[in-house]
Amino acid sequence: MKQETVLELQQVTHVYVNEKGTFVAIENFSLSIAEGEFLALVGPSGCGKTTVLNLLAGLFQPTYGNVLFGGLKVDGPSSKVGYMLQQDYLFPWRSIEQNTLIGLEIQHRMRKESKAEAERLLTELGLPGAGKRYPHELSGGMRQRVALARMLVTNPSVLLLDEPFSALDFHIKLQLEELVQSTLRRLGKTAVLVTHDLSEAAAMCDRVIVLGRNPGHIHCEVVIPDSLRLASPQIARTLPEFQSVFEKLTSELDVIDTEGED
Ligand code: ADP
Repeated sequence: MKQETVLELQQVTHVYVNEKGTFVAIENFSLSIAEGEFLALVGPSGCGKTTVLNLLAGLFQPTYGNVLFGGLKVDGPSSKVGYMLQQDYLFPWRSIEQNTLIGLEIQHRMRKESKAEAERLLTELGLPGAGKRYPHELSGGMRQRVALARMLVTNPSVLLLDEPFSALDFHIKLQLEELVQSTLRRLGKTAVLVTHDLSEAAAMCDRVIVLGRNPGHIHCEVVIPDSLRLASPQIARTLPEFQSVFEKLTSELDVIDTEGED
């Protein structure tokens, strides 16, 4: 793995302000993510995982501290950063090809090769010939593959994945974990995955950050051993080291739960 830092949060505190008052979502949060790294964020609901992802995406600025992408301050969304969510948000009236190309259209980056590129990506992701179909004709797993193609066609260097598999049936989820991990590795992308599934984090990622709450902070990090990292998620789940990583993650979450505020 290359070691240059691509994304960084430096002593970030984020305070939400609304009509009910102020709420400190994360406090003094520092994290470096290396180029090509696949990082997972796990932790109890409300500990700030999505806040961290949104800050990395440049959707809003931190109240204090800095968010850096390639050493430069993030001051808004960038075409170099892709976002994939639990819901696919495909437009029902657009064909799969048109849905896949929407990011390029919005960014005014359509070229004459773009349609062929979309078709190639859809084929690589197991959807050959699906371009002319419509979202309602596709299963949940197929639609998430389209969402992945829609993100990849814009060629982002960083992918932010917010629970992208959690609405899927278990066996489809396992298939997509394989596909996403192998595709991102092959393309050399950096990725940050938010998940509540500890086995997914252990099987797919290089490093897992466990967040504590009140306010959100880094409780600990778990580096995944090479034997698991280099295996596909399905194989990783069968290896002896998997159980100890899974138990470590579970026990850290138990500590957070028992102590309430870590
Ligand atoms: P997670 O993704 O870990 O569940 P979030 O980042 O979504 O956590 O939220 C962290 C905390 O910030 C939660 O307590 C949530 O209620 C609060 N929060 C999130 N968004 C807002 C908002 N727009 N206004 C006020 N509070 C918010």
